[in-house]
Amino acid sequence: MRPLKAYINLSALTFNLQLVKKIAKNSKVMAVLKANAYGHGLEESVKAIKSADGIAILTIEEAIKIRKAGFENTILLLEGLFTGEDIYEAEKLNLNLVLHNDLQIEYLNQATLKTPINVHLKINTGMNRLGFPPDQVDYLIENLNANPNVSGITLMTHFATADEKEGIEKQLNCFNQVTNNYNLSSSVANSAALCKFPEARLDWVRPGIMLYGASPFEDISAKKLDVKPVMSLVSKIIAIQDIKKGQSVGYGDNFIAKEDMRIGIVACGYGDGYPRHAKTGTPIFVHQKITTTIGRVSMDMLYVDLSRNTEAKIGSKVEMWGNHISVDEVAKNSGTVGYELLCNISASTRVPLEYIDG
Ligand SMILES: *Cc1c(COP(=O)(O)O)cnc(C)c1O
Repeated sequence: MRPLKAYINLSALTFNLQLVKKIAKNSKVMAVLKANAYGHGLEESVKAIKSADGIAILTIEEAIKIRKAGFENTILLLEGLFTGEDIYEAEKLNLNLVLHNDLQIEYLNQATLKTPINVHLKINTGMNRLGFPPDQVDYLIENLNANPNVSGITLMTHFATADEKEGIEKQLNCFNQVTNNYNLSSSVANSAALCKFPEARLDWVRPGIMLYGASPFEDISAKKLDVKPVMSLVSKIIAIQDIKKGQSVGYGDNFIAKEDMRIGIVACGYGDGYPRHAKTGTPIFVHQKITTTIGRVSMDMLYVDLSRNTEAKIGSKVEMWGNHISVDEVAKNSGTVGYELLCNISASTRVPLEYIDG
């Protein structure tokens, strides 16, 4: 077996949930576990966040796994029904459904349920992804109130720029304007809004990324937010090359040695989920020291500078991200976000997840 592994620290996940609860104060916490819990493995993650008030995912198949893992609180399907049949599965599993388009309303109207369902009516307040226009909300609420298949309504929206300088003001104002007349439960905050805007907490918050110990912000580190990294992507040095000034490393020649160098070859590449676009200079932790990557990442391998890391040898441990290197730093050096890098690990079938506690 290759030495590459992703350790998943479940106590860090539990710790981050407790921190979220503290920040959320009296709001209920809907832990977002979509994309296989952002790459961390759904069922194991469910066990670590059992004390969440709810879990949000996308599919019935995921909901079945979550119920099997013993979770009895609220489960929300973030994109709602994909087919008319799904509603009977949702009924059986006691799921909450996002309602965001007319077809889903039709499914809801046409079904004959024994147990009515909680719906989260999604309002498009400016992100222009999912949701009904604000001017349809009165009409929709009136109809949902009269629908025997509906047991409760939560009003929700999603922010496009909670992590950026634009913030949430425009969208939150819009949301408040259309929802103020109703005494209904509401839910708007992702991780960024939860951390930065107390006025967005409302009844439910929906944190994702911060549960996994990464930051939703470009300019505020995970450490500053006090969350602990849950995933550590680790491998080993499998070869060492001593190269001369002027020589290149790996494919292409985008890295030319400015002096004689000692290079480590690490068993981890873009085929495993490490970003191919990571620039030379991306931090990486090798044998107890922070050094940098060099050259272009290969499918199965990447290259590190060992010139000032003379104790490192074949078999030395390498951390691509985890407790020493934040996934956010690797993302920044690769033109992407920590979200994508974490998700890519579960998308890769080549990295075994190994669960640890503490
Ligand atoms: C993914 C998602 C979240 C969680 O967002 P984070 O930035 O990871 O906290 C919340 N709400 C909705 C609707 C989402 O799709």
